[in-house]
Amino acid sequence: MPAQPAHPPRPPYRGRFAPSPTGPLHFGSLLVAFGSWLLARRAGGEWLVRVEDIDPPREVAGAAGAQLRTLSAFGLHPDRPVEHQSRRGALYAEALARLLDGGLAFECHCSRTDLAASGGIHRRCVPGARRTDPAIRLRVGDGTRMAFDDGVHGRVTQDVAREAGDFVLRRADGPWAYQLAVVVDDAAQGITDIVRGADLLDSTPRQLLLQQALGLPRPRYLHLPLVLDGDGRKLSKSLHALAVDAGHPLPALRAAWRALGQAPHALPSHAALAPLLAAAVAAIDPARIPQAPVSIAALHNGAAMDDA
Ligand code: GLU
Repeated sequence: MPAQPAHPPRPPYRGRFAPSPTGPLHFGSLLVAFGSWLLARRAGGEWLVRVEDIDPPREVAGAAGAQLRTLSAFGLHPDRPVEHQSRRGALYAEALARLLDGGLAFECHCSRTDLAASGGIHRRCVPGARRTDPAIRLRVGDGTRMAFDDGVHGRVTQDVAREAGDFVLRRADGPWAYQLAVVVDDAAQGITDIVRGADLLDSTPRQLLLQQALGLPRPRYLHLPLVLDGDGRKLSKSLHALAVDAGHPLPALRAAWRALGQAPHALPSHAALAPLLAAAVAAIDPARIPQAPVSIAALHNGAAMDDA
């Protein structure tokens, strides 16, 4: 048995919000921040914030600071110092070395073109391919299925070999892959409950597989509804136009509350920020959180109805 690293003892509930600094906080990410904060507070647990800044080409200068200031303006304060993934490379390197040593990960010289025929999914390396900057992938054996019980979506099962294949842990151009960094960090930070957007539902089985490969504990998962724009597209973090207004947190919090499927009348109508948040913690009911995406247009109509 390889020696396992020591993990911090797991508290009863520790949640987190893990934004990528690709733009200002938009309504979809506010919903995830608020939802994860509410569920942590409801459980009497802790709530951490981790900046996922491992993909510089996608990042926007100053975005991380702006996101943190917005969270603060919304009264969502983390219980511990904010961590940055860009400073945690040593942890990812150690995990990767263990996977390579155990034969669970391998160097891959295939190019994007090599994988085009299989829809970008890697099942075996193209013979003879050679590159100076190989990627590292996790080996996913044929028929590898992972299942978990999601707090909103119920039982979720995925054939990881068929749907994801051997997935990347470190990219050919150098950066750590999200899948590796997130699994290592959630374990190192003692996260017990992962509450995040439903766009990551299909990443979760890969993360379970990695946890298993690294001998890490499995957190509980709850995936919140996606927010769609007027054209039915997922809100993108880079759409500056949809940034939430840090100067006026109350309307956005009320809209996020409705998007979480919660009863509007559970929040006092003219409350300031602190009493509104306290009422929300007391009233949040996870059983009401919808699976289906919510449209920003429907939320605006809901606001009109609340005001009527
Ligand atoms: N950094 C990811 C994002 O902003 C979230 C990762 C996670 O919650 O696991 O979409």
